[in-house]
Amino acid sequence: MAANNIERTRVLGAPVDALTMKTAVERAVELAKDRTKLSYVVAINPEKTFALRENAELARFVEGADLALPDGIGVVWASRLLNGRKIERVPGADLAEAVCARSGVEGLNLFFYGAKEEASAAAVEELRRRYPDIRVVGRRNGYVKAEEMEALTREIADSNADVLIVALGSPRQERWIREHAARTKVGLCLGVGGTLDTFAGTVKRAPLAWQKMNLEWFYRLLKQPSRLWRCRRLLYYAVETAARFFLVKPFTRK
Ligand code: UDP
Repeated sequence: MAANNIERTRVLGAPVDALTMKTAVERAVELAKDRTKLSYVVAINPEKTFALRENAELARFVEGADLALPDGIGVVWASRLLNGRKIERVPGADLAEAVCARSGVEGLNLFFYGAKEEASAAAVEELRRRYPDIRVVGRRNGYVKAEEMEALTREIADSNADVLIVALGSPRQERWIREHAARTKVGLCLGVGGTLDTFAGTVKRAPLAWQKMNLEWFYRLLKQPSRLWRCRRLLYYAVETAARFFLVKPFTRK
Protein backbone atom coordinates (compact mmCIF):
# COMPACT_ATOMS: atom_id res chain seq x y z
CA MET A 1 0.00 0.00 0.00
CA ALA A 2 1.48 3.32 -1.05
CA ALA A 3 1.34 6.46 1.10
CA ASN A 4 -1.54 7.72 -1.03
CA ASN A 5 -3.74 4.72 -0.10
CA ILE A 6 -3.82 3.32 -3.62
CA GLU A 7 -3.05 -0.36 -3.48
CA ARG A 8 -0.77 -1.73 -6.18
CA THR A 9 -1.54 -5.28 -7.26
CA ARG A 10 0.09 -7.49 -9.90
CA VAL A 11 -1.77 -8.89 -12.86
CA LEU A 12 -0.02 -11.17 -15.35
CA GLY A 13 3.26 -9.85 -13.97
CA ALA A 14 2.42 -6.17 -14.46
CA PRO A 15 1.78 -3.60 -11.74
CA VAL A 16 -1.88 -2.56 -11.65
CA ASP A 17 -3.43 -0.10 -9.20
CA ALA A 18 -6.72 -1.01 -7.55
CA LEU A 19 -8.55 2.30 -7.78
CA THR A 20 -11.71 4.00 -9.04
CA MET A 21 -11.96 6.69 -11.69
CA LYS A 22 -12.61 9.25 -8.93
CA THR A 23 -9.44 8.31 -7.02
CA ALA A 24 -7.43 8.22 -10.25
CA VAL A 25 -8.51 11.76 -11.19
CA GLU A 26 -7.80 13.10 -7.69
CA ARG A 27 -4.35 11.52 -7.65
CA ALA A 28 -3.56 12.69 -11.20
CA VAL A 29 -4.48 16.28 -10.30
CA GLU A 30 -2.34 16.08 -7.16
CA LEU A 31 0.65 14.74 -9.10
CA ALA A 32 0.24 17.36 -11.83
CA LYS A 33 0.33 20.17 -9.28
CA ASP A 34 3.64 18.98 -7.85
CA ARG A 35 6.11 20.30 -10.42
CA THR A 36 9.13 19.54 -8.22
CA LYS A 37 9.31 16.11 -9.89
CA LEU A 38 8.05 14.35 -12.99
CA SER A 39 5.27 11.83 -12.41
CA TYR A 40 3.73 9.62 -15.04
CA VAL A 41 0.73 7.41 -15.63
CA VAL A 42 0.74 4.17 -17.60
CA ALA A 43 -2.31 2.31 -18.88
CA ILE A 44 -2.09 -1.46 -18.50
CA ASN A 45 -3.90 -3.66 -20.99
CA PRO A 46 -3.24 -7.34 -21.82
CA GLU A 47 -1.11 -6.43 -24.84
CA LYS A 48 1.16 -4.35 -22.59
CA THR A 49 1.46 -7.02 -19.88
CA PHE A 50 2.83 -9.38 -22.52
CA ALA A 51 5.01 -6.74 -24.19
CA LEU A 52 6.73 -6.24 -20.81
CA ARG A 53 8.05 -9.79 -20.91
CA GLU A 54 9.98 -9.04 -24.07
CA ASN A 55 10.98 -5.44 -23.42
CA ALA A 56 13.03 -4.96 -20.25
CA GLU A 57 13.21 -1.17 -20.73
CA LEU A 58 9.43 -0.93 -20.95
CA ALA A 59 9.11 -3.21 -17.91
CA ARG A 60 11.38 -0.95 -15.81
CA PHE A 61 9.48 2.13 -16.97
CA VAL A 62 6.11 0.62 -16.07
CA GLU A 63 7.39 -0.43 -12.62
CA GLY A 64 8.30 3.19 -11.93
CA ALA A 65 4.89 4.60 -12.84
CA ASP A 66 3.12 6.77 -10.28
CA LEU A 67 -0.21 5.40 -11.48
CA ALA A 68 -0.71 2.09 -13.32
CA LEU A 69 -4.28 2.07 -14.61
CA PRO A 70 -6.34 -1.08 -15.19
CA ASP A 71 -7.00 0.16 -18.74
CA GLY A 72 -8.17 -2.98 -20.53
CA ILE A 73 -11.04 -5.24 -19.55
CA GLY A 74 -8.72 -8.23 -20.03
CA VAL A 75 -6.66 -7.00 -17.06
CA VAL A 76 -9.81 -6.70 -14.94
CA TRP A 77 -10.89 -10.22 -15.89
CA ALA A 78 -7.38 -11.66 -15.36
CA SER A 79 -7.27 -10.07 -11.90
CA ARG A 80 -10.58 -11.68 -10.99
CA LEU A 81 -9.73 -15.08 -12.50
CA LEU A 82 -6.08 -15.45 -11.52
CA ASN A 83 -5.93 -13.46 -8.27
CA GLY A 84 -9.56 -13.64 -7.13
CA ARG A 85 -9.41 -9.87 -6.88
CA LYS A 86 -12.19 -7.60 -8.18
CA ILE A 87 -10.84 -4.35 -9.58
CA GLU A 88 -12.54 -1.57 -11.51
CA ARG A 89 -11.60 -0.71 -15.09
CA VAL A 90 -10.15 2.80 -15.42
CA PRO A 91 -9.40 3.52 -19.09
CA GLY A 92 -6.49 5.88 -19.75
CA ALA A 93 -8.57 7.71 -22.37
CA ASP A 94 -11.27 8.45 -19.79
CA LEU A 95 -8.73 9.64 -17.21
CA ALA A 96 -7.15 11.96 -19.78
CA GLU A 97 -10.55 13.41 -20.65
CA ALA A 98 -11.43 13.84 -16.97
CA VAL A 99 -8.16 15.72 -16.37
CA CYS A 100 -8.97 17.96 -19.37
CA ALA A 101 -12.44 18.58 -17.92
CA ARG A 102 -10.95 19.52 -14.53
CA SER A 103 -8.13 21.70 -15.90
CA GLY A 104 -10.22 24.89 -15.68
CA VAL A 105 -11.20 24.62 -12.01
CA GLU A 106 -7.87 23.17 -10.95
CA GLY A 107 -5.85 25.75 -12.90
CA LEU A 108 -3.85 23.07 -14.71
CA ASN A 109 -2.11 23.94 -17.98
CA LEU A 110 -2.22 21.23 -20.65
CA PHE A 111 0.13 20.51 -23.54
CA PHE A 112 -0.72 17.89 -26.18
CA TYR A 113 2.00 16.02 -28.05
CA GLY A 114 1.22 13.30 -30.59
CA ALA A 115 -0.98 12.14 -33.48
CA LYS A 116 -1.05 13.48 -37.03
CA GLU A 117 -1.30 17.26 -37.46
CA GLU A 118 -4.99 17.30 -38.47
CA ALA A 119 -5.95 14.85 -35.70
CA SER A 120 -4.04 16.86 -33.09
CA ALA A 121 -5.73 20.13 -34.16
CA ALA A 122 -9.18 18.52 -34.35
CA ALA A 123 -8.77 16.80 -30.96
CA VAL A 124 -7.91 20.06 -29.22
CA GLU A 125 -10.78 21.83 -30.98
CA GLU A 126 -13.21 19.09 -29.88
CA LEU A 127 -11.95 19.24 -26.28
CA ARG A 128 -12.38 23.03 -26.28
CA ARG A 129 -15.95 22.51 -27.49
CA ARG A 130 -16.69 19.96 -24.75
CA TYR A 131 -14.92 21.90 -21.98
CA PRO A 132 -14.95 25.63 -22.73
CA ASP A 133 -12.77 26.44 -19.69
CA ILE A 134 -10.06 23.91 -20.66
CA ARG A 135 -6.53 25.37 -20.32
CA VAL A 136 -4.59 24.33 -23.42
CA VAL A 137 -1.19 26.05 -23.53
CA GLY A 138 0.18 24.26 -26.59
CA ARG A 139 0.13 21.28 -28.92
CA ARG A 140 2.47 19.56 -31.39
CA ASN A 141 1.85 16.66 -33.74
CA GLY A 142 3.72 13.43 -33.08
CA TYR A 143 6.02 13.59 -36.09
CA VAL A 144 8.76 15.82 -34.68
CA LYS A 145 12.23 14.95 -36.01
CA ALA A 146 14.97 13.81 -33.61
CA GLU A 147 17.00 16.96 -34.25
CA GLU A 148 13.99 19.12 -33.26
CA MET A 149 13.36 17.29 -30.00
CA GLU A 150 15.36 19.65 -27.83
CA ALA A 151 13.41 22.62 -29.23
CA LEU A 152 10.16 20.77 -28.52
CA THR A 153 11.03 20.06 -24.89
CA ARG A 154 12.05 23.72 -24.48
CA GLU A 155 8.75 24.83 -26.03
CA ILE A 156 6.82 22.65 -23.57
CA ALA A 157 8.85 23.95 -20.61
CA ASP A 158 8.31 27.56 -21.77
CA SER A 159 4.55 26.94 -22.08
CA ASN A 160 4.42 26.40 -18.30
CA ALA A 161 2.43 23.18 -18.79
CA ASP A 162 1.53 21.14 -15.72
CA VAL A 163 0.24 18.15 -17.70
CA LEU A 164 1.73 16.70 -20.86
CA ILE A 165 -0.54 14.37 -22.81
CA VAL A 166 1.66 12.10 -24.94
CA ALA A 167 -0.15 10.28 -27.75
CA LEU A 168 2.51 8.45 -29.75
CA GLY A 169 1.26 4.87 -29.37
CA SER A 170 3.01 2.21 -27.29
CA PRO A 171 5.91 1.58 -26.61
CA ARG A 172 6.97 4.73 -28.53
CA GLN A 173 5.37 7.11 -26.01
CA GLU A 174 6.89 5.33 -23.01
CA ARG A 175 10.35 5.58 -24.56
CA TRP A 176 9.80 9.27 -25.33
CA ILE A 177 8.67 10.02 -21.77
CA ARG A 178 11.71 8.20 -20.37
CA GLU A 179 14.18 10.01 -22.61
CA HIS A 180 12.75 13.52 -22.86
CA ALA A 181 9.95 14.31 -20.42
CA ALA A 182 12.14 15.41 -17.49
CA ARG A 183 13.31 18.43 -19.52
CA THR A 184 9.72 19.62 -20.07
CA LYS A 185 9.33 20.50 -16.35
CA VAL A 186 5.73 19.28 -16.31
CA GLY A 187 4.31 17.68 -13.17
CA LEU A 188 2.51 14.84 -14.91
CA CYS A 189 2.82 12.91 -18.17
CA LEU A 190 -0.13 10.91 -19.42
CA GLY A 191 0.60 8.36 -22.16
CA VAL A 192 -2.66 7.94 -24.06
CA GLY A 193 -1.81 5.92 -27.21
CA GLY A 194 -4.20 6.72 -30.04
CA THR A 195 -6.70 8.65 -27.90
CA LEU A 196 -6.30 11.97 -29.74
CA ASP A 197 -7.58 10.21 -32.87
CA THR A 198 -10.75 9.26 -31.00
CA PHE A 199 -11.23 12.83 -29.69
CA ALA A 200 -10.69 14.06 -33.24
CA GLY A 201 -13.23 11.56 -34.52
CA THR A 202 -10.81 10.07 -37.08
CA VAL A 203 -11.02 6.81 -35.13
CA LYS A 204 -14.39 6.03 -33.56
CA ARG A 205 -14.65 4.63 -30.06
CA ALA A 206 -17.14 1.79 -29.62
CA PRO A 207 -20.76 2.88 -29.05
CA LEU A 208 -21.55 3.35 -25.36
CA ALA A 209 -23.61 0.12 -25.23
CA TRP A 210 -20.59 -1.88 -26.44
CA GLN A 211 -18.35 -0.08 -23.93
CA LYS A 212 -20.78 -0.92 -21.13
CA MET A 213 -20.79 -4.59 -22.16
CA ASN A 214 -16.96 -4.50 -22.05
CA LEU A 215 -16.77 -5.26 -25.76
CA GLU A 216 -14.74 -2.24 -26.84
CA TRP A 217 -11.80 -4.49 -27.79
CA PHE A 218 -14.08 -6.60 -30.01
CA TYR A 219 -15.53 -3.50 -31.71
CA ARG A 220 -12.01 -2.31 -32.50
CA LEU A 221 -11.12 -5.70 -33.92
CA LEU A 222 -14.18 -5.62 -36.21
CA LYS A 223 -13.40 -2.07 -37.39
CA GLN A 224 -9.71 -2.76 -37.89
CA PRO A 225 -9.22 -6.48 -38.61
CA SER A 226 -5.50 -5.84 -39.18
CA ARG A 227 -5.26 -5.61 -35.37
CA LEU A 228 -5.74 -9.38 -35.32
CA TRP A 229 -2.22 -9.82 -36.69
CA ARG A 230 -0.86 -7.49 -34.00
CA CYS A 231 -2.79 -9.50 -31.41
CA ARG A 232 -1.27 -12.86 -32.38
CA ARG A 233 1.30 -12.67 -29.56
CA LEU A 234 -1.48 -11.76 -27.16
CA LEU A 235 -3.45 -14.79 -28.28
CA TYR A 236 -0.43 -17.03 -27.75
CA TYR A 237 0.16 -15.78 -24.21
CA ALA A 238 -3.56 -15.87 -23.38
CA VAL A 239 -3.72 -19.55 -24.34
CA GLU A 240 -0.54 -20.23 -22.36
CA THR A 241 -1.90 -18.44 -19.28
CA ALA A 242 -5.27 -20.19 -19.54
CA ALA A 243 -3.53 -23.56 -19.90
CA ARG A 244 -1.43 -22.87 -16.82
CA PHE A 245 -4.52 -21.82 -14.87
CA PHE A 246 -6.75 -24.71 -15.87
CA LEU A 247 -4.21 -27.52 -16.20
CA VAL A 248 -1.46 -26.78 -13.70
CA LYS A 249 -3.34 -25.01 -10.92
CA PRO A 250 -5.74 -27.87 -10.03
CA PHE A 251 -2.76 -30.18 -9.43
CA THR A 252 -0.89 -27.72 -7.27
CA ARG A 253 -3.91 -26.95 -5.09
CA LYS A 254 -3.81 -28.63 -1.70
N1 UDP B 1 1.94 8.46 -33.78
C1 UDP B 1 2.68 9.62 -33.63
N2 UDP B 1 3.98 9.61 -34.03
C2 UDP B 1 4.60 8.52 -34.54
C3 UDP B 1 3.83 7.33 -34.67
C4 UDP B 1 2.50 7.32 -34.26
O1 UDP B 1 2.16 10.62 -33.17
O2 UDP B 1 5.76 8.59 -34.88
C5 UDP B 1 0.53 8.48 -33.34
C6 UDP B 1 -0.45 8.06 -34.42
O3 UDP B 1 -0.74 9.16 -35.27
C7 UDP B 1 -1.64 7.64 -33.60
C8 UDP B 1 -1.02 7.11 -32.31
O4 UDP B 1 0.34 7.54 -32.32
O5 UDP B 1 -2.43 8.75 -33.27
C9 UDP B 1 -1.09 5.62 -32.18
O6 UDP B 1 -0.43 5.06 -33.26
P1 UDP B 1 -0.45 3.51 -33.55
O7 UDP B 1 -1.82 3.08 -33.92
O8 UDP B 1 0.67 3.22 -34.50
O9 UDP B 1 -0.06 2.97 -32.09
P2 UDP B 1 -0.78 1.87 -31.17
O10 UDP B 1 -2.27 2.14 -31.20
O11 UDP B 1 -0.37 0.60 -31.78
O12 UDP B 1 -0.21 2.08 -29.79
